[in-house]
Amino acid sequence: MSTEYSGTAVVPGIGVGPVVRPAPRPEAPADEPAADASTTNVAFATAATEVARRLRERSKAANGAASEVLAATASLAEDRGLATFVGKHAAQGAGPATATTAAIDELAAMFTAAGGLMAERVTDLYDVRDRIVAELLGLPEPGIPLPEEPSVLLADDLAPADTAGLDPSTVVAIATRLGGSTSHTAIIARQLGIPCVVAVTGLDEVPAGARVAVDGTAGTVTVDPDEQRLAELVEQDRLSREAAAGWTGPGRTADDHPIQVLANVQDGAGARAAAQEPIEGVGLFRTELSFLDRATEPTVEEQADIYAEVFEALGDRKVIVRTLDAGSDKPLPFASQPDEPNPALGVRGLRIGLANPDMLDRQLDGIAAARERTGADVRVMAPMVTTEAEAQWFAERVRARGMQAGIMIETPSTVLLADRLFRHLDFVSIGTNDLSQYTFAADRMAPTLSDLTDPWQPALLASIKLVAQAGQRAGKPVGVCGEAAAHPLLACVLTGLGVTSLSCAATAVRSVGAKLAQVTLEQCQAAAEAALAAPDNLAAAHAAKDVLG
Ligand code: PEP
Ligand code: MG
Repeated sequence: MSTEYSGTAVVPGIGVGPVVRPAPRPEAPADEPAADASTTNVAFATAATEVARRLRERSKAANGAASEVLAATASLAEDRGLATFVGKHAAQGAGPATATTAAIDELAAMFTAAGGLMAERVTDLYDVRDRIVAELLGLPEPGIPLPEEPSVLLADDLAPADTAGLDPSTVVAIATRLGGSTSHTAIIARQLGIPCVVAVTGLDEVPAGARVAVDGTAGTVTVDPDEQRLAELVEQDRLSREAAAGWTGPGRTADDHPIQVLANVQDGAGARAAAQEPIEGVGLFRTELSFLDRATEPTVEEQADIYAEVFEALGDRKVIVRTLDAGSDKPLPFASQPDEPNPALGVRGLRIGLANPDMLDRQLDGIAAARERTGADVRVMAPMVTTEAEAQWFAERVRARGMQAGIMIETPSTVLLADRLFRHLDFVSIGTNDLSQYTFAADRMAPTLSDLTDPWQPALLASIKLVAQAGQRAGKPVGVCGEAAAHPLLACVLTGLGVTSLSCAATAVRSVGAKLAQVTLEQCQAAAEAALAAPDNLAAAHAAKDVLG
């Protein structure tokens, strides 16, 4: 008898094998002897340096987001603030493992209280703690076992450093009990192309060694799967991978309905990688991610250099640049408001530009200069807009520099105002990650609410339909650039709802394009209607799958 668990589908594909689970984390022994401060400090420093060295080695062997995550975790191990906190406990006589644990607990509490991106780094902090404590105790490095046969990794949640080092030939699928579609686990799994399902209730019941099948398209984990059914799914998966590898663009349904397939990028390196894929351009250039480590605002010239690198990579393909989306989960030291009680509902996105128009103007000047220099096809959009006046104010500033202007649809108010917004704009792009958060009053980072922020939620799909219809009335493009666009079945549903472009991680564009090429517009519309009529996210995904096959 097989048992099925359901969660949020993140990376499509099938993976089958015995379950492996991360090794339990080492703990500082309760009876660790006291030590003098210098012994503890030296032992900590030696262990932290070794842990950082190993992480850096793995960072060099990896690439893209995985490499960045590993390098960031290595820096955390050698962070001077951490050493200072350890020193405080060392001065009170704590042994090295005890001092490390106490210091990281204190830092984690501070990061959690700060919220946003800082709070997200708590998983990294605990990962660093476990690695340093294991090194101090002479235990093997904690984390993911290196399986000898193709296996399925199940966990509560995964430390970014662990996910980044995964080998897709031995870890053939991932499922976690926690995490949402925008979590680190999801981002890295997508980059590595490992089928992945997150937020799976009951997953902790599945023991190591059990044979399971993870279906990253349907969002299911099946223990002891029916072999015949499994063989069918594996064959379907093989065909989908083959189709994705052979897809050459441009985006079209089987009956030739055009739908642009675009990539999301954050810097020149990402743009160059994306440009290798059969994309028609970039649908979202997240400019703020180029500046996360900057204490002060980059000059117009510096900004122009960074933007030009992206534009050059794309040649004559279009690039939609998003102005700084600072604040909330992406605090920028030079652009965010300190001490907001609820940063996701605070001064973020365009609100920062409204409070400091000169800063927005400098960014638009930088974009315009890079466009001038490269001759690229550049359009500009603003994040986190809520009123018609804001959209008009922003569009005038962009048009004054000779570029097309748009906004992201990320708030319910812009869904309701879509017809009026089009009077001022050339295009819109729906940010489903934030539109879910604000429509469902559910923090997009909260693992326990990931069913509400699942883009299959019918109310989110209904909002998208309203905006797409407004776009059709205005004769203007409506894109989707949130994570929803990365899922092949959802991409078909979005097409059926009437959106005109899909922008997603470069690694996902082929599977999205290949799936669209297999279905007709009529099928997409029928799948959209079925999903819209479903009572919840899981039923919507099932209903669409029944129509699309
Ligand atoms: C979104 O909100 O869907 C989006 C694409 O923007 P970000 O994820 O950068 O907030
Ligand atoms: Mg957003």
